[in-house]
Amino acid sequence: TPIPDYLAEVLAACAADASGAVADYIPELAQVEPEQLGVVLATVDGAVYEAGDADAGFTIQSISKPFVYALALQQRGLEAVLAQVDVEPSGEAFNELSLEKGSGRPLNPMINAGAIVVHTMLGDPGDPQGRCEQVLAGLSAFAGRPLGVDEAAYASESETAFRNYAIANMLRSRDSIVEDPEDVVAAYTRQCSVRVTTRDLALMAATLANGGVHPLSEERVVEEWVARQVMSVMATCGMYDSAGDWISTVGFPAKSGVSGGIIGALPGQLGIAAFSPRLDPHGSSVRGVEVCRRLSADMGLHMMDPP
Ligand code: GLU
Repeated sequence: TPIPDYLAEVLAACAADASGAVADYIPELAQVEPEQLGVVLATVDGAVYEAGDADAGFTIQSISKPFVYALALQQRGLEAVLAQVDVEPSGEAFNELSLEKGSGRPLNPMINAGAIVVHTMLGDPGDPQGRCEQVLAGLSAFAGRPLGVDEAAYASESETAFRNYAIANMLRSRDSIVEDPEDVVAAYTRQCSVRVTTRDLALMAATLANGGVHPLSEERVVEEWVARQVMSVMATCGMYDSAGDWISTVGFPAKSGVSGGIIGALPGQLGIAAFSPRLDPHGSSVRGVEVCRRLSADMGLHMMDPP
């Protein structure tokens, strides 16, 4: 079967599952059409295959985390970033108020505590606006086209970001961040509110898989060691508190977000993205996870399978 037909078959097989629920702790997310479903594969040599709602827009949410981590690594270097945020799986929910015992660092950059610190490592301290511009430019470079912020989603999340304020205050109390916690959360929330399509996410993932070079624009967005570091952390910490189950069953580095997106990156091969808004109890897209499971099984994508 040609790849687009195969992808359409995968979507058809997953579409019947209407279980799960859209995220509603961000009011704007509760309003989305829950039946949306899309998948895109982007190879490292620039072939893009899609099916379903591949061009529907949604907010990137936590899928911004690996890419902003990449930008921080590129700008500050591995040692400086590691000194602030560790790379150990937390086994906890993404919005847990937790820090590593002893070092006091957030456990990893894929949970909110770590992502908020990583976010502040870009640009000049005390310049949240400049930082937001850098984040947008960086995410756009990964996508290969100019992205924008969904202002309605941003305003909506800002009204209910109590948990992230708590996390930011905890970080401020131990000087992990030095700016006003409210400013930091506002800027981090803008990062999460960048609007993308499933196609964008597949190309962003493919850029990581391609060692930091965008497969179509051929722009080097980050160095190869950065892409390796980011995919390693996605493999161990990318899927909320089901990271272990994910890596053993699906078997490739991934990151999901509460708007229903999910990406996978297969080093040297391809970027995968799927989108469908209803979430499982861990906070990942029900159908997105199933799409990835099927792709992994059918195409032999598990990293631990012999070639
Ligand atoms: N903006 C969301 C938050 O920080 C992102 C959560 C997610 O996608 O996991 O709560």
